[in-house]
Order: sequence, then structure tokens, then C-alpha cells
Amino acid sequence: MTKLEYNAVNAWETYAAPEHRKAMEELTKRYTVFLSHCKTERETIAYVRDRLTEAGFNEKWNHATHCVLRDLRGKALFAARRGKNPLAQGLSLIAAHVDTPRLDFKQRPLIEQPGVAQAKTHYYGGIRKYQWLARPLALHGVIVREDGERIPVSIGEQKDEPVFCIADLLPHLAQKQNQQIVSDAFEAEKLNIILSHSPGETPRKQDDKDTPKEPLKAHLLELLHQKYGIREEDLITAELQAVPAGPATLVGLDRSLVGGYGQDDRICVFTALEALLDANAGGANMAIILWDKEEIGSDGATGASSRFFEYCVEDLTHAWEPETPSRHVLLNSCALSADVTAALDPDFPEVHEKQNAAQLGYGPCFAKFTGSRGKYGASEADAEFFARLRSLYNAKGIPWQTAELGKVDLGGGGTVALFLAAYGMQVIDLGPALLSMHSPFELSSCADIYATLQAYKAFFEA
Ligand code: MN
Ligand code: MN
Repeated sequence: MTKLEYNAVNAWETYAAPEHRKAMEELTKRYTVFLSHCKTERETIAYVRDRLTEAGFNEKWNHATHCVLRDLRGKALFAARRGKNPLAQGLSLIAAHVDTPRLDFKQRPLIEQPGVAQAKTHYYGGIRKYQWLARPLALHGVIVREDGERIPVSIGEQKDEPVFCIADLLPHLAQKQNQQIVSDAFEAEKLNIILSHSPGETPRKQDDKDTPKEPLKAHLLELLHQKYGIREEDLITAELQAVPAGPATLVGLDRSLVGGYGQDDRICVFTALEALLDANAGGANMAIILWDKEEIGSDGATGASSRFFEYCVEDLTHAWEPETPSRHVLLNSCALSADVTAALDPDFPEVHEKQNAAQLGYGPCFAKFTGSRGKYGASEADAEFFARLRSLYNAKGIPWQTAELGKVDLGGGGTVALFLAAYGMQVIDLGPALLSMHSPFELSSCADIYATLQAYKAFFEA
């Protein structure tokens, strides 16, 4: 008899066979290494670039190169693999973002306060400020000197390296703070990162006019000069980001979850990259676009609202099929907006509408539309396109689910889907669910990572 009800399928059950579990374990291992090493948009793009270059992707675009890549200032990247179908039929495109919430150094960051030299920060993206207090932080980024020399910075990840930290108020003196609402209790201007504590070794004389007014900051500048050859002014032209220190790791006695920073959206970056490299060549012209700035609204040269993607498609069409107008390629493309969604939170079920909430371990999750409160600001996929993908995944036995991001009037969020929809192409959101999204330690299910890779591969191979 035909089964009439619908229930999402648990990915752990789908992939219970030993060969799947072995492949899942191997994939998880590589994913945690990737997460541990790629903590900024620059590091992520560099990693993707290296993997693609190793696999033979070429920066020279012409009729003979069938695997091409291009990055924009090391912060956004487009890559494509040619299929047998005419390009005029469009691309099979997966879009993901490489930026993550973090604490950026201000342009003039260094201050001295009683007992410590600190860096002032301006947070990037949606954070819950209290999650960044009293935890080890690492510094990543670049300092660009006046002569143009680019000095890469990564400190706080290796065993012998120090970490940094924002101190939190002790509970004994937090009585007043405890009465405040959360948005008042934690102020952005108090997110000051402790960089050092000791004055320099030179003995200082009383009333010596050479004795610096701020000895801790002066010592810190000496240390920065020794290590990086920089002066305070060089920090003005730097991009320094404080991120949670330390590697991603398995969570749970059954090792079934991955805990780590930046899984929104690097879980999709990783699985999309693996899918692009791994998919069997066929008809489809496969492509990925990785964007920066999604977490702050996708504006900016390297964000989804820039023309970079469009220019890439124009150049690609010119190289592979010059007789075709690139607008036909754009219009006829099919895209997955590969971004994460919120998993049903076991401790805060009240923010979700259970039947339309994503569950950890049930495979990648479709969001037919994004936006919030009355679908405002939404990109909505056609039922026809959604049905085609549903049919594909059902035929291949790939677990999938569908959800909205929380209860209708509670909030919601956007993705890059609408920037692709602007070209008239078919686009739908599809990505795994996370717990603790946007926190310094996000959680994903190993079964979902594996299922997402299968889903992205199947999309490319369809
Ligand atoms: Mn995201
Ligand atoms: Mn996000």
C-alpha cells in the first residue's frame, strides 16, 4: 500500500552500513582538519584555491581549459567544471559563504587600561557578545605595511603559542548586571582583548621624560615590532580578527557530532568543494561560487551583491561558448544556496514550530524561502524546481528535510539565494542544520556532513 504520510528520514539509519560509516568517519576527519585550519575568509579561500589547483583547475580561461578557477582578492572564488551539455543550458551552481562572525580589531586598536594592554574590537556579524568572554582567542589576519608588504598573522593556534582573552565580570560583582536585559548587560565597547600585561625590561626612572606614559602599551608595541617589524600606524591598515582558539573536535561519547567555530558556512564550503572535485563528469556544467560578507548583508566587492559572479559567467561563456549570450547562461542556471539552518534546539523548543523545524541528523535541509515575518526579504524557490530536487534525492536514497528558520513571527534570516534569484535562475537553500549557530563552538552532525556531500554531488551529477 502507498505510504500516505510524510516523515523525514534519519540519516544515521540511511547510512548505517559499515562502508558508509567508514566513509563518514574519514570525511569527518578531513572536515575537522579543514575547520581547524581555516578560520577566516582569506584562509578558507586559500585552502579551496590550493585544493582546486592541485586537482588541475586553471586560472587561464580558454576553450581548452575545462576546469577553471578565479578568486577575487583572496576573499571570494568562482570555479567551474565543464560538462557535455551546452553552456546555454545553464550552470549547476552551488553558492556558499566563507566569512564567519568574529571580533575585528578596530583600526586604532591598542589601549592601556589598569594592568593590561588591550585591543578594542568591532564585532562582525551576529554574535551573542557574552559567548566571547572568558575564553581563549586566537588572532588571524594580515597587516599591510606602508610599502605594501603583507604580513600574515596567525597566533594562538599552535601548542607553544599564547592565546588572548576578554575578561568577564566576576559573579560577586555582577549583581547589577544580572538585573539588566542581555543587550544592555554586554556592551560592544567592553569587548577589549587582553594582549599583554607586563612593562618592558628597561628600568624606568621617576620623572624621566623618556619613560612612556603607557608602559604596557609601549612594551606591547616593542613586542609587535620584534615579531612583525611593524609600528602602531601599520595596525591601521590591517585586518586582524579574533576567533575562538583551538581545533575543531568530535563531540559525544559516540563521536557523532563535530564541535567547532565557523561551521556556518564552512560546512557547506567544504562539502561543496568535495562535491565539485568528486562528482562524476556528465552533462552538467558544474560551478561553485564562494562569497565573503554574507554575515553583514552581502554588500562589498567580495560579497554576493557585487558583480564578480556575473563577470565570471561572462568570461566563462566567452571562453567556452562565445556564441551564447551570458545572460542565457545565468537565466538557465540552477543553484543551491548552500547555507546552514537552525536545528531544533532541545533546550529552546519554544522558538521553533516543530513540524517545520530542521532536526540534527536528518540530512541537509531545504528552505523553500528565506526572509522573515511574512516572508519579507525572501527569495522563494518554485515548487517545480523543489519537486525536481526532491525526486532526485528520493530516487538516490539521499535523506533530506525541510524547514523554516524558527517560528513565523520570531525572526528568521536571509542567505545569498536572493542575489542569485536576481538573475532569474532557479535557486533553493539546501544545507545542514546546526546547533549553537553563530557561537564560538557550533555543532553539526557527522551524518549530516556526509548526507550533504551526497546531496551536493547528486545535484552536480543530475
Ligand atoms: Mn550562513
Ligand atoms: Mn550566519
